[in-house]
Amino acid sequence: MRFCPRCKSMLIPAKKGNKQVLRCSRCGYEEEVTEQTRSGYVTRREIAEEKHTGVAISREAEHTITSEERELLEDYHKQLLENLYETERESEED
Ligand SMILES: [Zn+2]
Repeated sequence: MRFCPRCKSMLIPAKKGNKQVLRCSRCGYEEEVTEQTRSGYVTRREIAEEKHTGVAISREAEHTITSEERELLEDYHKQLLENLYETERESEED
């Protein structure tokens, strides 16, 4: 997850023409999504690493957020948990 460098709000993925951008819903800051950005975004591998360290989720939850962002965060966490369960099942088969 990425945050606005200006106001520290959460950046929301959005479409701009045929490009994908990350947009700040608070101040309108936009960041183009490049391959580099994409790989820096949350991936399954990153989630697995977070599970090992156990710090990333609580660190992001401490960020000051609006109710709108809280809803998004809840979705994000739900998604994270689902991915964690998947990862767990996969590693148990090992
Ligand atoms: Zn902003």
